[in-house]
Amino acid sequence: MRCLVVLLSTLWVITDACPRIISKAEWGALPGRCHASFIPQRNYVIIHHTVTPPCYTQAACCTQLKNMQRFQMKKWCDLGYSFMIGEDGNVYEAQGWHRHGIHAPKYNRNSLGLAFIGNFQEQVPNPAAINAAQNLIKCAIEKKVLIPFYTLKAHRNVYSTACPGNALYNIIRFWDRFKAQS
Ligand SMILES: [Zn+2]
Repeated sequence: MRCLVVLLSTLWVITDACPRIISKAEWGALPGRCHASFIPQRNYVIIHHTVTPPCYTQAACCTQLKNMQRFQMKKWCDLGYSFMIGEDGNVYEAQGWHRHGIHAPKYNRNSLGLAFIGNFQEQVPNPAAINAAQNLIKCAIEKKVLIPFYTLKAHRNVYSTACPGNALYNIIRFWDRFKAQS
């Protein structure tokens, strides 16, 4: 009986870190045109914002994602982030766990690019979005797609940009494993 309790609590801990991830098929993505790639594990997490209106429901986030994908595919092969985070508390698949990103030159093959949907220059993402992002990072370590001693950075730390906005930057610079300079 004790073994069963231990086993169940272990399973609960493992699955608890992973937030709900809405797949590309579920949010109605177009097929991407990127070359196939498989990256087993990354060393960095890079945080972005999308500089779009926010979304607070799954339906609104799906609409935003479809618009963003159509816009980004005018220039690139697909939405370039690994995952996108809505203020509905869901994580949305873009390039996903194993395909390389198109979000930060020099880091596209060794980072997970997480983009908060909205503009976080003046205001912070809500707790649902913050929790989803932090759980996704824990989940990535559990899945061994991110090394436990990863480095967390903002887009502005690796490229000349204001991304992910001052308000969000002032949150993530206090997160575990943040390092502005490499
Ligand atoms: Zn960015």
